[in-house]
Amino acid sequence: MGLLETIYQKSPVFFQSFVLNAKAFELYLERYGKKFWSLFAEFDKNQWLSESDLEHYQNEKLQLLINHAYETVPYYRDIMRQLHLVPRDIKTVKDLPKLPILTREHIKNNYQQLISPKLKGIYLRHGHTSGTTGSPLDVCYDVKTCVVHHVADWRQKYWAGLKYGIPYASIQGRVIVPIKQNKPPFWRKNYINNQLFLSSFHLTNDNMPYYFDKLKKDNIKFVEGYPSTVYILAMHLNKKNTTFPLDAVLTSSETLFDYQQEAIEKAFCCKIFDFYGMAERAVFATECEKHEGKHLNMDYGIIEFLDSKNKPVEKEKLGRIVATSLHNFAMPLIRYQTNDSCSLKAKVCSCGRGFPLMDDVATKNESIVTLPDGRLISPSVLTHPFKPMRNIVESQIIQNKIDQLLVKIVKTSNYTRQDEAALISAFNERLGSEITIKVEYVDLIPRTKSGKFKWVNSTIVPEF
Ligand SMILES: [Zn+2]
Repeated sequence: MGLLETIYQKSPVFFQSFVLNAKAFELYLERYGKKFWSLFAEFDKNQWLSESDLEHYQNEKLQLLINHAYETVPYYRDIMRQLHLVPRDIKTVKDLPKLPILTREHIKNNYQQLISPKLKGIYLRHGHTSGTTGSPLDVCYDVKTCVVHHVADWRQKYWAGLKYGIPYASIQGRVIVPIKQNKPPFWRKNYINNQLFLSSFHLTNDNMPYYFDKLKKDNIKFVEGYPSTVYILAMHLNKKNTTFPLDAVLTSSETLFDYQQEAIEKAFCCKIFDFYGMAERAVFATECEKHEGKHLNMDYGIIEFLDSKNKPVEKEKLGRIVATSLHNFAMPLIRYQTNDSCSLKAKVCSCGRGFPLMDDVATKNESIVTLPDGRLISPSVLTHPFKPMRNIVESQIIQNKIDQLLVKIVKTSNYTRQDEAALISAFNERLGSEITIKVEYVDLIPRTKSGKFKWVNSTIVPEF
């Protein structure tokens, strides 16, 4: 835990609120200033453009990106020269396959060469992704990419009926309330965005009624969070045969399973708006009020669906998602290969928006972890300790006993004892000391019989 985090954790609630709001204000200026609202107006129009107009939009942005990459990014200049390509060879989305695929390994091995020196320095923002197999990756982007991301995120919120200024609650991965705290408040308020942060680390059957009292008191009608975390709240209500009506629930970051959707929609008497995005900021796909699939936000990035030979697959056929961010000029990700697979739908959405529809992303079914004190922990929350780790190739979390988590790790040769200490401490910080974290080093993580990878696997059945 960093010094600032330590100070935050030990400070009184009013100070934590102050820090949260100071941070929120800084982010507010960056994310919700003039640039935000002018881009929001542009994106608001974009959604109603025809698919061919959107293709035209993509081609224009792509040309700017390719020119910039060729002129200023060493990695792309080298590649294009080797392939005897110049920017005018890649004018449209159809020309993109002339460039090779960019893998996570390419990014790790060419990190500096992928950054445009033109945008180095104070304009750079860093993103960390843990990936779906618990192997971390660093990327960076410019401020514009952050603004675009927030614009796309708010466009999705508007589709769900949540307009800027209306109160809403978020239950995600950050530790905002000290783990040892056993009395409410299990939340902190960001007054600037009218956003209530709920703790993901205090979800016991005894604590959850306080959460609902607070949501009621603050007249909150919208909740966003990881599907598995919102599911824990929903099951608490369902078990008591009661409901808590909301206007909408927004979920992301994990696969939303049918059983979760059913439980959440029953408990909160509303529809879920699920969306798909990633820390690499190359893909954004969002569900509209018709709920007929996820709209590929064509003004955010270009998505290809490819087979194992990197050839495009037909509509309705499953393909690997390969994405090109249209806005990240600091570290252009062109034809970036994600770990996810999905298919493009043949039908168009009845809402009339020009963005094509894709299906749900096929990833894995992870387990919820139960702690000795009854807290239920979402698997997405467990990705956070891995985010700063640089020397881990792959990981897996196994729980066979209530008081022990086994963390299997495939390490790189640079891995040190400090890495292990940092990882265990990050787990303890979130899960407390009643559960022992045991680390085991392995050469590889076995797949299931069907070849699937289950990152978090708990045999303890959660009691809701
Ligand atoms: Zn639609």
